Amino acid sequence: MKPLLPSAFAALALLLAGTAPARADDTAPRAPLRTMVLNDHLVAFYQGRPDESAVKPGPRQWPDLGAIFVGVATYAIHDGDTALVYDSFTDTASAQWVRDWLVKAGVRRFVLVNSHWHLDHIGGNAVYADSLRLASEGTRAKLAMKRDAIEAGTEEGPPAIRPLALPDLGIASDTTIMIGKVRVLLRPVAIHSADGLVIELPDDKLLLAGDTLEDTATFVAEPQSIPQQYKTLGAMRGWGFTKILPNHGNPAVIAAGGYGLGLIDTTRAYIRRLVEHAKDADFQKQPLESFVGDAIRRGDVSLWWAYRDAHANNLAVVAKAWQDQPAPAFDPAP
Ligand SMILES: [Zn+2]
Repeated sequence: MKPLLPSAFAALALLLAGTAPARADDTAPRAPLRTMVLNDHLVAFYQGRPDESAVKPGPRQWPDLGAIFVGVATYAIHDGDTALVYDSFTDTASAQWVRDWLVKAGVRRFVLVNSHWHLDHIGGNAVYADSLRLASEGTRAKLAMKRDAIEAGTEEGPPAIRPLALPDLGIASDTTIMIGKVRVLLRPVAIHSADGLVIELPDDKLLLAGDTLEDTATFVAEPQSIPQQYKTLGAMRGWGFTKILPNHGNPAVIAAGGYGLGLIDTTRAYIRRLVEHAKDADFQKQPLESFVGDAIRRGDVSLWWAYRDAHANNLAVVAKAWQDQPAPAFDPAP
């Protein structure tokens, strides 16, 4: 996900607050965490996705909208005393909780990998200040450029992420690393954001998808490139994995081992429909169910209340990008 507040609103909120943004309350995780042991070298850490009735009205900050309400997972691949941690939650207390859990499991050496630059994936990076930190070259460059704003809390409004630990190293092409005996393939992909980096575990036929795929629906952050994202999703579908673990998904599905390839088909159909209907008179009034109803009936995704806001954002940004453009050609579905 990405925070839903336009930055102008965030700037206004800061102005009204009258003071510099407070540092995130890092004494406790933003929401309680739980672990899901997926196999002997892969564990998921999950936070958020409260029932709508349990959410109190009141001001929202970017971690609520981008991560907690939709639910957020991070993952660790571990073998012996080494672990690769994929994303660091929205805050350092949550990231520290993960690190402490892994230390108790015997891990002494860490590699952090960020899936992309959005703030709900990098908030706890500072917990790995002593470790190797990897990301795509696009993420490394983007975070370096935005570091001052992110540390000041002006990128998406408060809370600030301070200090932000940048990735040390950006990778530009598929890269295999070994975590103990576990083969890990880091693959840059321009899906959801141009700087995306997903992880394949070829021997498990698993994909850690970052934000390239979400349940109920993807968050459209870069609408202009939807035709290219559609094509890249089709290519990714053929890599050979059979199960998918997204960063924002249904915890029951993640705990049971992940999603099937239908999650990719659903995502492709959703973004294609958005663009193909962008000129419809009632486009911005169409509910999420109009776009993913068939996928819900198939069981590829389930309807989660917090995705109504994401969908409203998607309608608005797609309308802006595409309603005055000629309809693009989409490749035939695989
Ligand atoms: Zn994102």
